[in-house]
Amino acid sequence: MRLLALSCGYETADFAVFDPLDPRVGTKVHVPYHVYLIDHPKGFVLFDTGAHPSLATDPVVRLGPAAAAFDVHMGPEDGIAERLRSVGVKPGDIAHVVQSHLHYDHAGGIEFLPQASFYVQRRELQFAHWPPVYQRDLYVPADFAHPVHWVELTGKLDLFGDERVVVLPTPGHTPGHQSLLVRLDDETVILGGDMAYSTTKMRDRRLPGIVWSPDELVASWEMVESLEVRYGARLILTHELDLDAVRPAVEPRTDEGARA
Ligand SMILES: [Zn+2]
Repeated sequence: MRLLALSCGYETADFAVFDPLDPRVGTKVHVPYHVYLIDHPKGFVLFDTGAHPSLATDPVVRLGPAAAAFDVHMGPEDGIAERLRSVGVKPGDIAHVVQSHLHYDHAGGIEFLPQASFYVQRRELQFAHWPPVYQRDLYVPADFAHPVHWVELTGKLDLFGDERVVVLPTPGHTPGHQSLLVRLDDETVILGGDMAYSTTKMRDRRLPGIVWSPDELVASWEMVESLEVRYGARLILTHELDLDAVRPAVEPRTDEGARA
């Protein structure tokens, strides 16, 4: 089994999105977009699909007023179809796509993978179609306003029944956010999507600016950290802001422990 990270452009956004209490609020941050490709003996699995290329060329039409806050940069080579071809994979060969959630920077490539099944939590689909006002700008109806083969989940899923690619609900950022446990031949990885933007801030229990439920988010952090410890797993966040400062989970933490 192989895991590849595909770089699919980036955006710049204010630090407040990532931590509204950080002294760097008021400055712009470079936020990478990553999509992950897993090569499993039973087929390819994609984790997320990146942003739609028109967000870079025609942002206001696609994203509306939020385009002023999120400045998307994507070249012609940064679309999901092009990135897959660059590693020798035809978009039509992707049968399984696990969507961490359906925000615009994760779900924009859905339309370029018409043969695939898209695994989402049912709560995420509902939230994406009827988002509350505080997350309305983060969902682009055009990303999923076409025929999509959804596989609606209501919890965990062992994708191939061999415990090597396991979908884990990690609500908090959104109600239906999910992560992916990937047991490679020599390493276990947890693809954490947007459950945090910086592992350092997650370890320090600093809440990001975009959060649906702080309580569910912290519970997801605790659950994932216990898996990191159990499997000796490496946590990889889609937009990791502090790649040089990533530190492993040392032991399952509780909120009580964090205050002590
Ligand atoms: Zn998000």
